[in-house]
Amino acid sequence: MEKMLTGMKKRNMEDFLDKLIIEHEAEAYVAVSFNIRGMGNINAQVGLESGTALMRAYVDGLSKIIAPDGIVVRADGATFSALFRKEKLDEVINYLKRTEVETQDGNLRRSISSHAGYYILTDKCRTYKELVGILEEALRAARSHVDSNLYAFCDDEILKKISEAKRIESMFRDAVDNEEFMVFYQPKVETKHYRLKGAEALCRWMHDGEMILPFRFIPVYEHSGDIVELDFYMIDHVCRDIRRWLDEGREVVRVSINLSREHLGDKNLVEEIVQIVDKNRVPHEYIEIELTETSTEVDYVELKDIVKRLHEAGIRTSIDDFGVGYSSMNLLLELPWDMVKIDRSFVPLGTEDEEDKKRLIMMRSIVSMALALDIECIAEGVETVQQMLLLKENGCFFIQGYYFDRPLPVEEFEERLDVLTEIRQAQ
Ligand code: C2E
Ligand code: CA
Ligand code: CA
Repeated sequence: MEKMLTGMKKRNMEDFLDKLIIEHEAEAYVAVSFNIRGMGNINAQVGLESGTALMRAYVDGLSKIIAPDGIVVRADGATFSALFRKEKLDEVINYLKRTEVETQDGNLRRSISSHAGYYILTDKCRTYKELVGILEEALRAARSHVDSNLYAFCDDEILKKISEAKRIESMFRDAVDNEEFMVFYQPKVETKHYRLKGAEALCRWMHDGEMILPFRFIPVYEHSGDIVELDFYMIDHVCRDIRRWLDEGREVVRVSINLSREHLGDKNLVEEIVQIVDKNRVPHEYIEIELTETSTEVDYVELKDIVKRLHEAGIRTSIDDFGVGYSSMNLLLELPWDMVKIDRSFVPLGTEDEEDKKRLIMMRSIVSMALALDIECIAEGVETVQQMLLLKENGCFFIQGYYFDRPLPVEEFEERLDVLTEIRQAQ
């Protein structure tokens, strides 16, 4: 049984596609990538061996439908890809949506369904790698459907998104070399005295006189892996600014920098960060690293190690987007964080709305829990005076948000530092 599942090599599909292209047959074909839903649950209920038998029966059934001139291969886990003739499309859609399958020995029956992303081959798709990218997006679209539709077709919008991502990916090297990525600083304000207390460094891409926001390029670079270099670039540029401010005799505040999850797994991460900071002769206390929660056990162990070692190096850490992730409670208890950043979805607006009242309860508990654990609290995305006062009333005295400031270009941020310098000199 295992033999059959592992025997379905991706390589076979690559050869199959090459042959279709050479023989000008590709346009008669449809490609699909599908992911069996709830396979983890099925395995937990019937055991791994029976689960695999069910999965095999399901995939065998598809093989029969698309035979003799189709192919199905296993991508990984419960995700498979197939190529089959267009005439079979309706039948395949119905089958993958939901089918009752039985193991070969007849001992077990189960209804199995998949999310599926389809792509009707055109002459636009020239390589297997391209096809894989397209199917990945189509499957993602299928999974993100909120309705009961379990499948999606790769449409022009998806193709546009893929080619835009490719374009952005190909621009990375030049953008770094030309220093097109800029650090913007969003002030963090302490509300007991309404004084600038710190800043978050946020990346902005200046290209051809246009400012490109992170949502357009960060996900692309997370996918391509370039985010790792971009984050180091940001740390370096922040350190250069801090060094210059110190040399100019300015009052300096601590700056926090975002670190993508893609860094988890880099055993030298902490050394690399420390090296950049030291190279710029910046005292460690001025740097804070923002990390987000993780979803897997392996990531958790690595995150724990990173936070601990940064702490030992005297570099502060904060949990970003607190509350929206997975393992918040353990994370808070077990790691030596300095700061919790309460996500804006937990910042109450101060209305009578039921939803908002719940938000207030959540915020209150996060604040009191963090303070009891001796961890500082900052609320993000604060836009109104009501929000700011409500946070203050409940013990959260650090605020970051449009109410005080948007992320500012360095020259404007320096004016804020100058106010601090002036206050110090006047005192
Ligand atoms: P984030 O780390 O959660 O950063 C906060 C985001 O909220 C920023 O968006 C900021 O401009 C925005 N924001 C701040 N105050 C308000 C407010 O009052 N209202 C609203 N609606 N939004 C507010 P931005 O700069 O577009 O960045 C988006 C995300 O991109 C960041 O979310 C972060 O995850 C990522 N990012 C930005 N720069 C970097 C970077 O250098 N490295 C990495 N790895 N990620 C970055
Ligand atoms: Ca952040
Ligand atoms: Ca955040």
